[in-house]
Amino acid sequence: MSDTFSIVFLAALMSMCALRLWLAGRQISHVIARRAKVPAAFAGRIELAAHQKAADYTVARTRLGRLGLAVEVTILLAFTLGGGLQALHDFWSVRVDGLLYGVALIFSVLAISAVVDLPLALYRQFVVEERFGFNRMSVQLFVVDLLKQTALAVAIGTPVLLAMLWLMASMGELWWLYVWLFWCAFNLLLLFLYPTWIAPLFNKFVALDDAQLRARVEALLTRCGFTSSGLFVMDGSRRSGHGNAYFTGFGRTKRIVFFDTLLARLQAVEVEAVLAHELGHFKHRHVLKRIALLFAMSLAFLAVLGQLIDAKWFYNGLGVETSNTALGLLLFFLAGPAFTFLLTPLLSLLSRRDEFEADRYAAANSSASDLVAALVKLYEDNAATLTPDPLHSLFYDSHPPAALRIARLQEA
Ligand SMILES: [Zn+2]
Repeated sequence: MSDTFSIVFLAALMSMCALRLWLAGRQISHVIARRAKVPAAFAGRIELAAHQKAADYTVARTRLGRLGLAVEVTILLAFTLGGGLQALHDFWSVRVDGLLYGVALIFSVLAISAVVDLPLALYRQFVVEERFGFNRMSVQLFVVDLLKQTALAVAIGTPVLLAMLWLMASMGELWWLYVWLFWCAFNLLLLFLYPTWIAPLFNKFVALDDAQLRARVEALLTRCGFTSSGLFVMDGSRRSGHGNAYFTGFGRTKRIVFFDTLLARLQAVEVEAVLAHELGHFKHRHVLKRIALLFAMSLAFLAVLGQLIDAKWFYNGLGVETSNTALGLLLFFLAGPAFTFLLTPLLSLLSRRDEFEADRYAAANSSASDLVAALVKLYEDNAATLTPDPLHSLFYDSHPPAALRIARLQEA
């Protein structure tokens, strides 16, 4: 049984790799083949130089993604069939007891993965992003961020892991249901705490003080029957040249956040149209639906783990001799993506459907042509390719391809 499972796992992993490499290869050749000319739909709106920069940036990031995949698979195989997890278990089981053993084991896996991943993260930020003019980070800021993120992960992760491992050990057969309830409660709490407690650790938020823009935005909010606890500008330019706008929080902690990079680039009418799109996400309850979907998926995953946790073949098939709750949890989350990868296109499809819906809302409550103008600028500034491979886009893209999105807006 365990040998069979090893083979099933390897087959799933290899299929996932083959599919991801094939899609990356398609994306690269599709973009390179269309590099020489601005696509007809954007002629006169986007300069050839900007189109070529977007093509080169997309190719560079896709190539880096392939390298990332190789690293990811190497780590996964080293931990599982390579015996890494078993070695970590042997190390910790004679040094710490009980729930702390599980916490030590899980944190070691996370720490080792992060260290192995670090060169690639540095390369992404200081070579690729730098080459295309997007990096605004100093090495010092990168290190400070890393230390803060680690401290935050330990401070939040330790009690959460202790609680989960305790529930797994103490709640009998239906432990997975208790873990699920705890997990949902924890995530909701995080959503409430993030805007006011966590985000300010990394960025500065100041009230939007441009009176003209404020008046415009407030008029839009009133028109759409929307209340928020404030309009903020975030210093996104500290780290990156990419621009964005978003909502965070729920109920009273709900805030609207504009990246300073976005405000610097767009006209007031365009900012309004982008915000109207974001309001569309809220009005159509996309955020709530997404959370409900993720909760339902985690319930399904935990129910599966509930069946696997006592199955010897599950551990042995993934290269571990010992079986306990912490190892079961780790193996499940390490090996899971090889099996759940095929859900990616479904989630992307749902997300693209939401984007169209939010665009329609923006067209109805603000202006389709202002949103088109804003999108063209954002695609240009973010060097997002205008010519993605259709299959690659179908599989991964959370946003519809630029040409399609703009065509729909122009019909509206
Ligand atoms: Zn959107």
